[in-house]
Amino acid sequence: MKIFVTGGAGFIGSHLVRRLLKEGNEVAVLDNLSTGSLDNIADVLENPALSFTEGDVCDKELTLKLSSGCQQMYHLAAAVGVKLIIDRPIHTIKTNIYGSEVMLETAQEHGAKLLIASTSEVYGKTEKVPFCEEDDTIYGSTTHPRWAYACSKAVDEFLSLAYYRQTGLKVLVARFFNTIGPGQTGRYGMVVPRFIDSALKNEPITVYGSGKQSRCFGAVWDVIRAADMLMTSDDSFGEVYNIGNDKPITIMQLAERIIELTGSKSEIVLVPYEKAYGKDFDDMMVRQPSLEKVSGKTGFKPEYSLDMILREMIEYQQRKNEHFFENAL
Ligand code: UDP
Repeated sequence: MKIFVTGGAGFIGSHLVRRLLKEGNEVAVLDNLSTGSLDNIADVLENPALSFTEGDVCDKELTLKLSSGCQQMYHLAAAVGVKLIIDRPIHTIKTNIYGSEVMLETAQEHGAKLLIASTSEVYGKTEKVPFCEEDDTIYGSTTHPRWAYACSKAVDEFLSLAYYRQTGLKVLVARFFNTIGPGQTGRYGMVVPRFIDSALKNEPITVYGSGKQSRCFGAVWDVIRAADMLMTSDDSFGEVYNIGNDKPITIMQLAERIIELTGSKSEIVLVPYEKAYGKDFDDMMVRQPSLEKVSGKTGFKPEYSLDMILREMIEYQQRKNEHFFENAL
């Protein structure tokens, strides 16, 4: 089968591309390399079943051409990471909304199935856990730039479901929760690679706020397996699904666990939110998905515990550091 993946050089996208290639598919990737990198797919770039194009999903003509003949499309290209969202709000809003619109129209034109990647940010300030897909959401004021991301992805979801209802397009929305794994960079604020990097260098680990806020971290291999299962199940379209892991851990406990697993001498330092993100930052105190809907539809259950995926990431980062060190000699 020929499959089109936008954002295929990103962290989640690159793992998905590898999985789809392994399954024997032909994969066309479109990525503008703004946060993604060719390093993420360096090991498969020479694979004749893969074609890579550097470009923007908002370029409709290009997107239509590259995805021609594809039966499945994954739209993962988006502006991601809290840091980026606060730094570049115009780019975030435009890329997220217009990019999805182009993909919806493209999928319709080609008669392809489409997965639109969304995010747990869409739950906004909801504190009732676990988060269920049909729950109401509460957002902050439009004067707080941090909500631009959540609202732009919420519009994507409305638009996707509208295409399904009005045109019968086979589109589904996957709300990705915190996803971690080898190859993820801490450059855009993601907590786990940042803590691992600091721990391996024996540098201070910066916990923002009180450290009592909690997250559920899903292993990227579980997450892409769930996405693949949804895409290949016949009656999953026209719906929204949480994807991730449902076991919570506080950020303080996470810092302590990473110190333990790496045998690091790092100390934990509490940093006020204002210093980390600037004024008016609203952090989410809890973020936990209900996985009932995706499990009910596909039988999906996470296979990786937090410790298993942390060990993989630590080993990957150690190998990378050694390689860097050898090359520098
Ligand atoms: N965080 C932290 N130190 C860091 C980076 C992040 O304490 O160096 C916190 C952040 O404030 C949040 C949690 O870790 O409470 C998860 O942050 P991330 O950006 O990875 O994901 P998200 O906030 O989108 O869930």
